[in-house]
Amino acid sequence: MSVEQRVYHYSAVMMGSPILLTLFENNESLARDVFRLIKQQENLFTVNRAHSEVMSVNQAAGVHPVVLSAPVFSLICQAKAVSLLANSCFNLTIGPLVKRWKIGFQGDRVPPADEIATLLAITDPRQVVVDVDTQSVFLTQPGMEIDLGAIAKGYIADRVRDYLRQQQVENALINLGGNVHTLGGVQASNGWAIGLKKPFAAADALVGVIEVRDKSVVTSGIYERYFMQQGRCYHHILDPKTGYPLDNELLSVTIISDRSLDGDIYTTLLYGMGVVQGSAYLADKPDIEAIFVTRDREVIFSSQRQFAFQLLDTDYRLSPLPQA
Ligand code: AMP
Ligand code: MG
Repeated sequence: MSVEQRVYHYSAVMMGSPILLTLFENNESLARDVFRLIKQQENLFTVNRAHSEVMSVNQAAGVHPVVLSAPVFSLICQAKAVSLLANSCFNLTIGPLVKRWKIGFQGDRVPPADEIATLLAITDPRQVVVDVDTQSVFLTQPGMEIDLGAIAKGYIADRVRDYLRQQQVENALINLGGNVHTLGGVQASNGWAIGLKKPFAAADALVGVIEVRDKSVVTSGIYERYFMQQGRCYHHILDPKTGYPLDNELLSVTIISDRSLDGDIYTTLLYGMGVVQGSAYLADKPDIEAIFVTRDREVIFSSQRQFAFQLLDTDYRLSPLPQA
């Protein structure tokens, strides 16, 4: 006989997204502490307000280095390293282009090509000078801007997971607007059931359900933020080589991993690589797995060791990994 467990949901809107915390106890003070922690972390990384540590680096671009706290310095160093990987489409200095495109915000339309070319010239990650001795970061060209929007939520989700563990919470789920982190699982089942959104459909429409225990599940999809112009879809993941949205066979990439920061990094990286190259890239990383959803309505796993998947939408089909 299974005992029905009561779940308690706590929600807030932060970082421009709905944040959801699910616990198995009625503990409002814990929920408040979690939301406070998220707010504190957001205040370090945001580029959507005038003041944050990252903004102070951007405001000093071309002028002087800025000394940072250990977490911000470390995340910038990691973001720079990922940006410098061969053929990486992740670029921590994509900021000026993100601001110019304004995708998903009022006034978003395709910028003139010459403006994109000008801004591309100030998105070179090698121009981010990090100094380990002083823990400072210097952007060498005026106008350069770091944007950690692709990975800050992953980093913060990991901090929430650590905090909940410290508080001896065994079962919980945090959803930071697309970045889901889980502790334990729901009793008498495989774990937590996490919906994989159906692209360009109703908010609650699902392609399928992913079941995990003690894992992060991060999805990056082109349907999350986009605008249409002359019948073309312009979405929020930009190709640092061209300055335009990345264009390939994918609608979304989901990463299942232990660290949500890895999930966030690899969703962007693999989005740029596509199914074949992306899966090959994960071959020697058994703890990191991807679920690709393609424009042809295929759902493809790089491997399947750490999760169960139930397909719900018959418009989509599970397909084997194509051979390179
Ligand atoms: P996510 O929601 O995790 O997929 O991240 C999307 C956000 O990452 C965008 O809204 C931008 O702020 C930022 N971004 C867009 N293109 C890139 C890129 N090529 N490299 C790094 N960050 C990006
Ligand atoms: Mg991301």
